[in-house]
Amino acid sequence: MKRIFWHLGTKEPDYLSLIESDSPFSLEDRTIDPRYCVMAEQVHADKLHFCTPLDSGSGFFGNPLIAGADALISDIKGQFLIVRSADCLPILLFDPDKYVVAAVHSGRAGTRANIVGKCIQAMVEHYTCNPQDIIAHVGAGICEEHYQVSPELYQDFNSALEAQGFCPCTNKVGHLNLRTTVFQQLIQSKLRFFNIENYHYCTFEQPDYFSYRRDQSANRQINVIGIIDE
Ligand SMILES: [Zn+2]
Repeated sequence: MKRIFWHLGTKEPDYLSLIESDSPFSLEDRTIDPRYCVMAEQVHADKLHFCTPLDSGSGFFGNPLIAGADALISDIKGQFLIVRSADCLPILLFDPDKYVVAAVHSGRAGTRANIVGKCIQAMVEHYTCNPQDIIAHVGAGICEEHYQVSPELYQDFNSALEAQGFCPCTNKVGHLNLRTTVFQQLIQSKLRFFNIENYHYCTFEQPDYFSYRRDQSANRQINVIGIIDE
């Protein structure tokens, strides 16, 4: 039976241990083999990558990450896309009708560039997905309260959003709210309100998560999505 597998990560299992061991790991109800996983470089830009079977194993066994990409899209059964996060928002998208999955890394720069909107557009154009069918899980990330930036970055982020027709939706001057911005981008991309699931955990506040701002951690939670047919 075909189904979508997805997992929003915490500190366990962590990214650094996974790439150190290069061994199968347990998630939810199954064991994931890194030979079938794909990881992107995540450079805080808005480049998408359409996965092929040859991409499996990227980021493991000394293989390079998918260069320059912050979003991965796949329709390959048995392949698992991984997005690493520690304050930035991990977004898992899937179309349960067409069986297409995507893993998106949306931090300040990616959100400013509407990477999730571009990813949905690519799912529509390249895989004939209907946005009304697409489901989005927006995982844990840093909240507005804990995400203060310089006046220059604040101004730049808000101007860029306004130019794209989005509302910065921040209650605190000098703070950014990635989650409310991404929510608007999902709605603008024509996802249905009830197909958007937000996990309102703040990585900075919650000890269960790695937070770059809190501990300058080099480690990351891993968020995984794939299509299973068995
Ligand atoms: Zn917080």
